[in-house]
Amino acid sequence: MDKKNLILITIDCLRADYSHVLIETLAKRLGKPVAFTNCMALGPATALSFPGMFTSAYGQTINLLHVPKNPENSLLDLASYGIKDDKLPIPEVLKENNYRTLGINSNVWVSQQYGFGRGFDHLFDALTSQRKTKHLFTTLKVGQRISFLGPVKNFLKKIYWKFVNNPINNSFAKATSVNKLLLQNINENEKGLFVWVHYMDCHWPFLPPGKYLRSIGMDIKSAKKVNKILHKCKEGRTIENRELELYKKLYIASIEYVSDSLLQLFEALENKGIMDDTVVILTADHGEGFLEHDFLAHISGSFTDENDCFKAGHREILNVPLAIYGLKQFEPRIIDKTVSHISLAPTIVDILGIKKPKKWEGKSILNLIDDGGGSQETFAISEFKANDKDYYVYTSRKWKFFWRIIDDQCRLFNLITDPKETTDISSQNPEIVKELKSTLRDHAQLHRVSKKDELRNRIRFIRSKLKK
Ligand SMILES: [Zn+2]
Repeated sequence: MDKKNLILITIDCLRADYSHVLIETLAKRLGKPVAFTNCMALGPATALSFPGMFTSAYGQTINLLHVPKNPENSLLDLASYGIKDDKLPIPEVLKENNYRTLGINSNVWVSQQYGFGRGFDHLFDALTSQRKTKHLFTTLKVGQRISFLGPVKNFLKKIYWKFVNNPINNSFAKATSVNKLLLQNINENEKGLFVWVHYMDCHWPFLPPGKYLRSIGMDIKSAKKVNKILHKCKEGRTIENRELELYKKLYIASIEYVSDSLLQLFEALENKGIMDDTVVILTADHGEGFLEHDFLAHISGSFTDENDCFKAGHREILNVPLAIYGLKQFEPRIIDKTVSHISLAPTIVDILGIKKPKKWEGKSILNLIDDGGGSQETFAISEFKANDKDYYVYTSRKWKFFWRIIDDQCRLFNLITDPKETTDISSQNPEIVKELKSTLRDHAQLHRVSKKDELRNRIRFIRSKLKK
């Protein structure tokens, strides 16, 4: 029997509640999917989410020695991130099973530098393009200088980001060029193909092509201006409702652009004879905040107030779409069970009929489709590090619980009566808190890496960089 193809689409910053139109649009071409409405990312940022998602392993980002304020600025800070040597990424497993593996992205956090090339026959990433030079410049030269210049560093940093490498003028590769590169690398009627494509179009700055800007009454100049509210927010200035609405419109227009680009991609793949027996999985690495918890974007640096760090784990940031198209053995359906990206790699091998590697911690979620959810209660655990402290987040149908173990700070929300997670009820529910702490304590103990091991990882990383 011919092998299936599997296409994994990940969209940076696409939160679940904004993804419905995209999921339905794709259904026009791919048929209705099995969709999970409560899928939780493993962490609230690209670098905190992808390593665990690709290797079905917890604890890869919680045990870092330090989370950089601006990760692009210091070589030392880069050492802890990425796919660790002892983990097993999904492409490696598929390659061993004779799949041709192809990946395309323009986000440095999921580039070869962080181990994401492992198992790919070809990974076209942000660092294999002209960005490579720029990134190295940022990392090695400017970064180090800025790090050691003491009192003038903030001033220099500001100048650098504003005039030399202003992200507003220098955003990521657009979906259409990503697709073009992808199509150039796919042969007609291929079987046994694994493709991973990561899109950056829904990541700040939201600058979809002109047609999409015009549909919301903007042009490139006004769109850049609206995007600047992120700076305003970081500087602690007030954001007016009107500005926020325009900003959200840009985000939605960006999703529409990705949606149309994907339709075009699948049409082209159909013409190439690729789509006959192909499963498509659509998800995101994390979501995006629009001030629901007084926080714009997703975790990207340090918070000034320690307790602000909890904001990074709310629903708008961790709840991501998960839709699987082309599962012939299942009727399309919507499942509201809580699932996690820890299950993504095991689900992929389950779909392809490959045995799950022992190293992987998650379980396939295909059984939840038949079960319809059943009575089996499920939960997800997400992890992140902020201001040098570890945070754990537990999500089930009813409870959302945050715990910062080091000083025993927690937050509890009842998702049934308070789905927007507005009122912390931890002090009124000591029994629930005790039970959830126990679950998270067991989880944390199981996944803790000693500081010594982490230091060893870091030294190994720096040595390997110096050798190059
Ligand atoms: Zn991301």
